[in-house]
Amino acid sequence: MEPSFSQRVKEQLAAAEIKKKCCRHTADDCASLGSSVTGEDEASALAAIYGRCRCEGCRGVLLRALFLRHGTVADPAKSYQLDLSFRGEDEAAAARAILGDCGFSFGEAHRRGRPVLTLRSAESVGDFLAFIGATGAAFDFMNAKIEGEFRGNVNRQVNFDTANIAKQLAAAEKIAHAAEALRTSGRYDSLPPDVRAAAELREANPQLTLEDLGRLADPPVSKSGMRHRLEKLLEAAEDGDADPKE
Ligand SMILES: [Zn+2]
Repeated sequence: MEPSFSQRVKEQLAAAEIKKKCCRHTADDCASLGSSVTGEDEASALAAIYGRCRCEGCRGVLLRALFLRHGTVADPAKSYQLDLSFRGEDEAAAARAILGDCGFSFGEAHRRGRPVLTLRSAESVGDFLAFIGATGAAFDFMNAKIEGEFRGNVNRQVNFDTANIAKQLAAAEKIAHAAEALRTSGRYDSLPPDVRAAAELREANPQLTLEDLGRLADPPVSKSGMRHRLEKLLEAAEDGDADPKE
């Protein structure tokens, strides 16, 4: 089976080289957090290690250990979510205090009775991953966010255009019905020539905007001029009056 996004991030993190001496000390400290450590012990151990951190790199190493031990991160193509899942409230509270001190504001949740600390935005997940040294994964989140926003904009534009075209076609259909009714009742030919010409342009080009229809008129007419003529046609159809008011 393909390793998950989370597994790949963890493999990269576990293999990353730690350069500074103080940070290597922190890494050794973190290694003492064995799998047999109980929740309560882990809470005090985390606080003790954090107290010995010398630099930003040390703090990154400690948070990296927290993530390797408790974390999962979703594939940014699917969702923006990073979780740290703990056995007990004490260790979760200790971790949350340290994370907050490092500038990461995790939300709290419970899943299957276990406390879970969670980040739910591309930006916060990306920042956290960068802080713990998972630079590639941090970029994946930033890119996913940018692509997502781009797709959102395109979709909004498409929806907007579709709505406008639908409105356009509905309006054209209304004109066609009005013209047809006037023809059936024999009143069409007594309409002013410019109104008839406008109606015929509309019927022949239901997809065009009023502005484009106006350009096709002979002589060309403005968008509002075209609207005015088509309104006269509608009024004539509604009135049952062969001579629409000027
Ligand atoms: Zn350090």
